[in-house]
Amino acid sequence: MSRPVVPPLVLSSTFSFDSAGDMAAAVQSKDRMLYTRWSNPTVEALEADVAEREGAEGCLATSSGVSAIHIAMLAALADGAGPLAVQNEVYGGTHELLTTLRWPVDVIRFGLNEAVDVARSLPAGAVIFCELPTNPLVRVLDLQGLRRAAPGATILVDATFASPSLVQPMALGADAVVHSATKYLGGHHDVVGGVLSANGDLLQRAWHLRKVLGPTLDPSAAYRLWRGLRTLDLRVTQQSRSAALLASRLAEHPSVVAVHHPSRPDHPDHARAAAMFRDGLCGGVLSFEVADAAAAAAVIDRVQRFEIAASLGGVTSLITWPAGVTHVQLNPAERAEAGISDGLLRLAVGVEDAEGLWADLAGALG
Ligand SMILES: *Cc1c(COP(=O)(O)O)cnc(C)c1O
Repeated sequence: MSRPVVPPLVLSSTFSFDSAGDMAAAVQSKDRMLYTRWSNPTVEALEADVAEREGAEGCLATSSGVSAIHIAMLAALADGAGPLAVQNEVYGGTHELLTTLRWPVDVIRFGLNEAVDVARSLPAGAVIFCELPTNPLVRVLDLQGLRRAAPGATILVDATFASPSLVQPMALGADAVVHSATKYLGGHHDVVGGVLSANGDLLQRAWHLRKVLGPTLDPSAAYRLWRGLRTLDLRVTQQSRSAALLASRLAEHPSVVAVHHPSRPDHPDHARAAAMFRDGLCGGVLSFEVADAAAAAAVIDRVQRFEIAASLGGVTSLITWPAGVTHVQLNPAERAEAGISDGLLRLAVGVEDAEGLWADLAGALG
């Protein structure tokens, strides 16, 4: 007997049975392979791979990162849980999810530096949502401290910026972990998706919510994500090393005011990142500051090897200006409070030759 090396791409939206009795029995036994919004073999191949990487009982693939976040929050808030406490430094789309929908519980916001103190004051039954590491200053939350401070809470972690290659948040105390699979998991800028990994009842509730709400991942997208995962560790290793190299060169450049990457000894979370992440790697995203907005615009307009584009985690290096793009909805005082200066630039490093990327950046900095 032989078998394929890669999972078959099963596009079938529905699954047939030999008899009415067989189908009825499948429904009774809660066999999910009945209809692709419920489950699909290609999607399940991806989910099994991610669950293993996360050390989770199961994983659910969704149509985008934000749908995974939405389902994780709803699943955790079942059975009268609450309030929902969300870190300030989360993805912009997560803010929008909180402000657009009417939530059935109080929504509390907290900053990364006060997370453990706030967690201690929360009632049992609270749901805590945090992001690890953050955008664009690459801060690393004390997840284990958070777990100890709130033993009864349900902790949800968006670990998109680290990817499962660098950290397994469930081993550090998280109850569920979500990723925008659009970023490192896919890794090639050609697929939008999300994944949510969890155990037990939380996982079952999330599966039911995905079925009810409908943001199932398309099997073709699941196949591309499965394929992207084959090279996740290789890519993240290279991207992290290149980001650390660029961070160290930038730190020495006379036009650069500050550099934010946990590989730097002066980063506030340097020690925590070294202990938490695989091989002390710190991921492929870093940011740095030049004098002002005009200087930032000049760098962006001069670089050749970085695409001017949102997103991260793919093979192509990207550059963005947070004050004018991802954090534009904040007013200047809020941006200052969040540490987003007008001269801040964010790099999402790809897999290109690092020396070539540095030569390009150095040229653009003048
Ligand atoms: C991109 C991103 C998301 C949203 O993911 P989509 O796939 O775009 O829906 C959520 N969290 C983080 C940290 C992200 O970077």
